[in-house]
Amino acid sequence: MSKGEKVLTTNTGRTVDDDQNSVTAGPSGPLLIQDVHFLEKMAHFDRERIPERVVHAKGAGAYGYFEVTADVSRYTKAKFLSEVGKKTDVFVRFSTVGGEKGSADAERDPRGFAVKFYTEDGNYDMVGNNTPVFFIRDPLKFPDFIHTQKRHPGSNLKDPDMFWDFLSLTPESVHQVTILFSDRGTPATYRNMNGYTSHTFKWYNDKGEYFWIKLHFKTEQGIKNLNASQAEELKGKDPDHATRDLHDAIARGEYPSWRVEVQVMPAEDAEKYRFNPFDITKVWPHADYPPMPFGRMVLNRNPDNYFAEVEQSAFSPANFVPGIAASPDKMLQGRLFSYHDTHRHRLGTNYHLLPVNYPKGRPFHNYQRDGAMRSDHNGGAGPNYYPNSFNGPLPMIDASEPPAPVDGDGARYDYVHPNDDFVQAGDLYRKVMTPQDRDNLVSNLVGHMSGAKKRIQYRQAAIFYKADVEYGSRVAEGLGLDLATVKELAAMSKEDRAAATQKDL
Ligand code: NDP
Repeated sequence: MSKGEKVLTTNTGRTVDDDQNSVTAGPSGPLLIQDVHFLEKMAHFDRERIPERVVHAKGAGAYGYFEVTADVSRYTKAKFLSEVGKKTDVFVRFSTVGGEKGSADAERDPRGFAVKFYTEDGNYDMVGNNTPVFFIRDPLKFPDFIHTQKRHPGSNLKDPDMFWDFLSLTPESVHQVTILFSDRGTPATYRNMNGYTSHTFKWYNDKGEYFWIKLHFKTEQGIKNLNASQAEELKGKDPDHATRDLHDAIARGEYPSWRVEVQVMPAEDAEKYRFNPFDITKVWPHADYPPMPFGRMVLNRNPDNYFAEVEQSAFSPANFVPGIAASPDKMLQGRLFSYHDTHRHRLGTNYHLLPVNYPKGRPFHNYQRDGAMRSDHNGGAGPNYYPNSFNGPLPMIDASEPPAPVDGDGARYDYVHPNDDFVQAGDLYRKVMTPQDRDNLVSNLVGHMSGAKKRIQYRQAAIFYKADVEYGSRVAEGLGLDLATVKELAAMSKEDRAAATQKDL
């Protein structure tokens, strides 16, 4: 053995004498159970897989930094945003949503865009997507929605009927569906897409004033998308193309970057704004609340080990720091519970101790103890209860957020403005998309919807028609549907439309 080479050992540090031949009774005999090295190696291998994330299973990650480029201290007291030039380490994970861990990066899907800021006040996570809106506004619908994006319980195949059945019975999805089926649904790479908080959050300053905000991460590489045939080809040729692109670009020293912008709504505007500012199916039009650049994010280091750093990374929109807090957005409120819950299932109760998740900017101190795989000092001999008179950690009142007025009777409330669900999808189609964008959108929709039952095609075409007459008519025409019937369905309430399309038309 030459100098500098490492000795192969078992997990308990015993030297292994041979890693090619198991211990057997004679040269061709059965194995002996006393080969403890074989037993350990096999037993560990049998346990290599942890539960796959139920959504966002396929992802790629990188480290970098965030730098403040404009003063936002009048809006937030977050220390990492307190002065121009201040830098904070980040870890970012990009992902597709519906596919399994081995699925193709070029699938039509929203892309996850999750940023962990290791601030001096603890970790702040921005767990967003590459789209500014979402399909549903109530988290009670989320498990059903995700089931429809995955595999049919009988055939284990992706199923256009369940996909379009749910969406056509959930008209608030039309804005996100329009973005998803535009070429933005297949970004060329993770470097060539924007990220959005999608939700509204609260920023508050040291005077106790608060503001509603949305963040936009604008790619400095430029938006680039794949059209349907380019995506189809890439899925076969290189299912990992976006993972490879991110890794190789950083390895070459071409560090991707994003300009970070904020839309700020004064608290008093929320009541009277023309859209519900806490409805995640809506954007705030730029003309109403112009995005203001205030930071820049650069990714400049690849992880050393994919499993340890990317697979075990755990983000949560509930990870706030003083100066940033939740809004009443119902989807956000649901996510505040479900992310930590998922991580406890997937990684175990002490997942926050894993190096990629550890709040390295500010080590934590509390009275939580024990649990499986507790790998730090576990609070040592210090007190494990509060209050105590043994110098245990103390709460600090200045970490409180300003009181949020909350009112109303506890009940299940239907959405009261169903007609405004179509306005922004229509604006996107009419005012923002180029003629080429519109052609690709219609052809992408017709291609996907043609696999669904006719009655479901009718119901969904009616929803596009409600967003924009030309939009719905072109989809109907591409699918060979009778336009008069689409128009009739579009004029109905959601409930009547569902009843009218219960059976074949
Ligand atoms: P603006 O004309 O001010 O902004 C339109 C924005 O749409 C652009 O700045 C760009 O946002 C985004 N965009 C451009 N092309 C596409 C596309 N093919 N698919 C999806 N988004 C695209 O209009 P408004 O702010 O009044 O918004 C009009 C519509 O634009 C909205 O209904 C929404 O569908 C869409 N949009 C709006 C955003 C917002 O925050 N206001 C953000 C993204 C989309 P970006 O620079 O973020 O890429």
